[in-house]
Amino acid sequence: MRKIYNLNIETCTPSVEAVLRGQGIPSWSQPDQRTIQIAQQAISIYKELASPIGIIMEISKEDFTEVYDGDGRNEIESPVKPIFQQAGELAMFAVTIEEEVCSEIKRLFDENDYAIGSMLDAAASEGTEMVAQTLENIYRQHLINIGRFDSRSGVLRFSPGYCGWHISGQRKLFQHLHPEDIGITLNQSFLMQPLKSISGVIILGKKKIFQFEDTFSFCGDCATHTCIERIKMLRDGR
Ligand code: SF4
Repeated sequence: MRKIYNLNIETCTPSVEAVLRGQGIPSWSQPDQRTIQIAQQAISIYKELASPIGIIMEISKEDFTEVYDGDGRNEIESPVKPIFQQAGELAMFAVTIEEEVCSEIKRLFDENDYAIGSMLDAAASEGTEMVAQTLENIYRQHLINIGRFDSRSGVLRFSPGYCGWHISGQRKLFQHLHPEDIGITLNQSFLMQPLKSISGVIILGKKKIFQFEDTFSFCGDCATHTCIERIKMLRDGR
């Protein structure tokens, strides 16, 4: 299975709360009206310019081992390898909201319009995460439809550059998946263009294989610790 999805912008648009959170403003802090208006303006620009699209391709465990091992620069201890080795299914993916939003963010910063520029940047980052989550949900539904997913199953996604999977892993991932078919390219530093893109692997397995603690050597440098919330969601069947 290899498929490209043009996704509905309405399902990939972040809320004002999510955008403010992305800016480091928690909901309990009661931001002023002007800040809320800037967030609303950023969301409106995002909705006008973003074009969410994703590609997904299933891959065997044997082939994905070659992708994951990449140039041999991964951390020795990482949650990714033990989990995918116990997986039922694996699918590589890439998503983007395309270049127009990224160009607009750059234009706003170039013109010193930092308030709306940084708010649009936060909206675009949150939106790209939502595109990745939407693609994960589509894959989960596909697995349900073909009888590969039951109440004991879960799916979780990982990306090169996180959780001990070295960023150079992008090279092999791109060689197999070809995200350039949806307009995503890779530069010499393994950064994706457009910048608001996410790639990685979605793993299907029994919920118990996804239990791990955020205590790896590299977790101290992790700004988000999103694994905690994502494992909780998986356990709760959300
Ligand atoms: S804390 Fe961060 S780096 Fe560590 S496993 Fe969780 S998401 Fe990955």
